[in-house]
Amino acid sequence: MNFSIQQISDMIGADHRGLSDRMIDTLLTDSRSLSRPDSTLFFAIRTSTDDGHNYIRKLYDMGVRAFVTDHTAGLPDMPDADLIVVPSGALHALQNLAGTIRRNLSQDTTVIAITGSRGKTTLKEWLATLLSPDRSVSRSPRSYNSQTGVPLSIWQADPMAEALIIEAGISRPGEMSRLTDVIRPDIAVLTNIHDDHTATLGSADEKCAEKSLLLSDARVAVYCADDMNIASRIHTLLPGDHRFGWSLAGNNEARLQFSHSVDPDGNVMLTVRDLSGNSAQTTPVRFSQTDVENACHAAAVMAAMNYDAPAIAARISSLRPVSTRTDVSEGLDGMLVIRDRYEADDSSLGPALDFMRRRVTDDSLTTVVTSVPVLQDPVKRHNMIRTMADELSVRHIDSLIVTAQLSDEERDILTGAVGSLTVFESAEDLLAALPVTRPLLSRRVLLITGADPALDAVAAALQARRHETMLEVNLDALVDNYNFYRRRLTDSHTGIVCMIKASGYGAGSYEPARTLQAQGAAYLAVAVLDEGIELRRAGITMPIMVLNPRVVNYDEMFAHRLEPEIFSFDELDAIIAHARRRGIRNYPVHIKLDTGMHRLGFIGDELPELIAKLHSQDEVEPVTVFSHLAAADEPALDDYTMEQLDKFDRWAGRLREEWPGIRRHILNSTGITRFPERQYELVRLGICLYGVATMNDGSQDGLRPVSSLSTSVIALRDWPAGTTIGYGCAGQCMTPSRIATIPIGYADGINRHLGNGVMKVSINGHRCPTIGRICMDICMIDVTECGDDVHVGDRVEIFGPAIPVTELSEQLETIPYEILTSVSTRVKRVYYRE
Ligand SMILES: *Cc1c(COP(=O)(O)O)cnc(C)c1O
Repeated sequence: MNFSIQQISDMIGADHRGLSDRMIDTLLTDSRSLSRPDSTLFFAIRTSTDDGHNYIRKLYDMGVRAFVTDHTAGLPDMPDADLIVVPSGALHALQNLAGTIRRNLSQDTTVIAITGSRGKTTLKEWLATLLSPDRSVSRSPRSYNSQTGVPLSIWQADPMAEALIIEAGISRPGEMSRLTDVIRPDIAVLTNIHDDHTATLGSADEKCAEKSLLLSDARVAVYCADDMNIASRIHTLLPGDHRFGWSLAGNNEARLQFSHSVDPDGNVMLTVRDLSGNSAQTTPVRFSQTDVENACHAAAVMAAMNYDAPAIAARISSLRPVSTRTDVSEGLDGMLVIRDRYEADDSSLGPALDFMRRRVTDDSLTTVVTSVPVLQDPVKRHNMIRTMADELSVRHIDSLIVTAQLSDEERDILTGAVGSLTVFESAEDLLAALPVTRPLLSRRVLLITGADPALDAVAAALQARRHETMLEVNLDALVDNYNFYRRRLTDSHTGIVCMIKASGYGAGSYEPARTLQAQGAAYLAVAVLDEGIELRRAGITMPIMVLNPRVVNYDEMFAHRLEPEIFSFDELDAIIAHARRRGIRNYPVHIKLDTGMHRLGFIGDELPELIAKLHSQDEVEPVTVFSHLAAADEPALDDYTMEQLDKFDRWAGRLREEWPGIRRHILNSTGITRFPERQYELVRLGICLYGVATMNDGSQDGLRPVSSLSTSVIALRDWPAGTTIGYGCAGQCMTPSRIATIPIGYADGINRHLGNGVMKVSINGHRCPTIGRICMDICMIDVTECGDDVHVGDRVEIFGPAIPVTELSEQLETIPYEILTSVSTRVKRVYYRE
């Protein structure tokens, strides 16, 4: 879209007097995604963790001249800027703007909206594929489905599109009615309701009620008639001629009937029967259960748009599972490899480039590898290439590798946008040329984007440490766990200190830190100075406290703004002396009290001296005061814990009388749940952030595992009964046995006590025990019970979704903390977003 700032103000319903005639082509809600300052309009949105108004000054300095705010007081002086003031808030303004654009769309545009717990993005991508042979289709990029994502999707949509597909997701009650107002769908789909981590939305019933609002005004509501919960809700909401249910179970209510069969290779074949009695079969496709459900939804939308069963079946046969996972991992020769699997079209490339740019820290060069989607219509293809060139150029990408055929004109357009362009006819050709190309990519940040599966092979070939063992870290689960706790804070002003000591409990520190910084966490806490320095060098800017400073290099500490814990007078004296020598004033420090752990910290008797000493200088300033519970997770010791809590209240209270702004914190993960009345101004979230539950009373059931340790089968052999396995002949096959060898050993962090059957790994859903001793780099698994369901190359889970970390810690009679932090650094960490 492209409107003048005056037109936009009118569409929002605000006052346009005094505004210039500046043209706007980009709406911005996240200051980090700035690419075209001149023509950007920034919406200063307030959320529970952040306030867009804080970024106005910086954006102004970077050239942005148009802002939507909710007030004018306290804003920087910006005489040449256009300011739209909307007292009800910038988010509201953004939604109003999108709502107006939606209402002005032509009658010929069919607006299709999708909501539900799972499958929204796949369904959206599939519908775009299914409808595009005979319609021009526009869709929301990636999973832009939130209160800001939906309006931005509408802004980016092609107003001439005949079908506009919008994904809508919510995380709080009340949000759906606002999205419905914006989208006003002609056809709306409710995919399914799952009882996920979204506890804020209440029970499955409440979720269903809230989500089905999207369908309430639609001309056609598409849903699965076999889901009783959803079907009965739709019945109360909508008259029969608006309801478009489908069924796999012969449900009479449904307007589209399916049956399905699975062949011996696991391929699914669907039979579709429409209301006129036409029936047709798809060719067999490798679909999961969720894929089948999505295919039925997609087919029902097509039927609602008057396609008949044969047309639907023909197109469904062309669908392939979509992956929306983005991986970030270390590459060879100092590369950072980002593999993004969305179709790399014009709407999707910009967000992928932003994701990449946030990982470019020093002056490393950037390379984008992309396939270009095939488009029949030459005008559209031309526009797409132009937009892609523009996206690359505004973000100063250094080089581009395209794995698709390009015309001479297209080459010229793209060469003008980036420093250098290389074209391969296909991803396979690039793969073959990698030995030559790879040296040119060393030390670069590399984005490999596009749905072409052959690009996965390119990414794999460039990844470092390619022995098969890896620790996968799900950054979305980390965010979910963070939010799970944020919702449990009784006071929304209480901040969260995220513990990323011991390299993020083994998950690595940089990627989790970046993710938590983006979530607006109050503090990061590391154990030692070096961990903090590493994070600063990698570009983490948020406050970092160092819990066990043992400061040896004060210069580094001051230079990197790392805030030490102060636990003794010696330490306090030393830091004051060093700060004085360098002329530093008011350096933030954290006062540690020993209320019962008897490890480190000041005790009550020392407070008068501590207070006097702190008052006698201005080199350091106490910004928080804290203590640590010795037995938060042991109800039998609650009396002891209560004593600790009471001491803390009194002692920290003394410091607060002197420094009213000082923030207090004592609770760790378990403490936050068990002693909610003691959350004070900050809490310290550790192991639960990484998805390991510490209580088994159900209070932490919403946590999701973040780290999974896995490897793969590298050899497989059948042995007769009596064969011994491994060192010391310690393992013996009692019956004829099938034994798998996996490349993971005690040097990777697999404790030797897990040998001889103690640990049971997961292979293709079977739980299989170790046999014999664990070797340094290898161990053996008895996979006899898998029968033929095990092959060389199969994935083997050590812990993760199938095996909780606590299972291993119980077997070893230790705590899950030790399991997580024992995974050796030689195990490759792979980060991904779902
Ligand atoms: C590690 C640590 C925490 C976090 O504890 P969890 O049990 O992992 O939540 C909190 N405070 C201090 C001082 C710590 O060292």
